[in-house]
Amino acid sequence: MKKYVSFLVILVLSALWNASLMGWYLVTRYEKPLVMAQIPESTRRFLIELNDRLLTGINDHFIIHQVDSLSDDAWDNSEDFGHQTNMIKGEDDTLFVFYADVQDSMLINRARLYAYDAIEPMKQLMGDYVYPYQVKGRKLPIYLCTKEGSYQKVCSGLVGSNSDFSDSWGLCVTQYSGVEVMTVGIVINNHSIFTRREHAEEYFKSTLWHEMNHYVYFQSLKLSREVTPYVWVFEGLAEYFASKVWKQTTDLSVEERQKALQNRLESTFNPYIYNYSGGELFYEYLERKYGERYVSQFVRFLYEQPLSQSLTGIGLGVELCEKEWKEYVKTHYID
Ligand SMILES: [Zn+2]
Repeated sequence: MKKYVSFLVILVLSALWNASLMGWYLVTRYEKPLVMAQIPESTRRFLIELNDRLLTGINDHFIIHQVDSLSDDAWDNSEDFGHQTNMIKGEDDTLFVFYADVQDSMLINRARLYAYDAIEPMKQLMGDYVYPYQVKGRKLPIYLCTKEGSYQKVCSGLVGSNSDFSDSWGLCVTQYSGVEVMTVGIVINNHSIFTRREHAEEYFKSTLWHEMNHYVYFQSLKLSREVTPYVWVFEGLAEYFASKVWKQTTDLSVEERQKALQNRLESTFNPYIYNYSGGELFYEYLERKYGERYVSQFVRFLYEQPLSQSLTGIGLGVELCEKEWKEYVKTHYID
């Protein structure tokens, strides 16, 4: 009899335990995770200042802005500006949605080819590519603007602002809410690119690679960590990646060159345009002096650490790198 009593007690206790677990599950199943990832104050401040600077900067390739919330609908490609405004759509693809302002399947096919070409080298440099399954099933929208004025129209539509975008060849628009990051789309200014007589196709491809690099970098950035994406860090990286297709050189005046050499790595560069070329030369110096593996390891650290710690991570210091980078720039590009 005693045996049965203790058995019964155990049975009742375990039933109670199960019931309380069930109760806890029923209460919490609609709640957010118990420990919510938070964006640190330093990162939040950094991103807000960054966006202010981007909106007033010249020749922008990138916009990042905070939104109140990213609802589940926002991630769906049916909410895309191109879909909503009935642009020509090329979507026989698992990774991308192409929107064009003209019925031109050749143009869309070339863009698709170039975009797929970027994936392997992107994995090499960035550690990984960002596939739709990693971003709630969202395919990357790529807009091809061939008519006069349509680039400006699409950029304004994606950014939600009437700033003048017409000087640039490409734009990547990104939104974040809390620690979630969503790429709204990439816009290519085919109209401006194809008014060039020489190497237009190379510029088309390298501009697309530049913008795709922004996509991978910002989708990989851990906003729950302290990160310091100075403009040169990501614009230089995008230029360095695009230079695998076509290397552009920026002409600086004598005065600008002197200013350029005074820049510190722990800052956004001055003049603004030097973030592109000076930043690219930083990654180029790192590759030539230490090898590609160092560059890619450095980029991976940048996703979740400030600049100085990312350099320490690959066994280098800010002071040393700054000195060596300036020597590299002087030797190869200024003297
Ligand atoms: Zn850019």
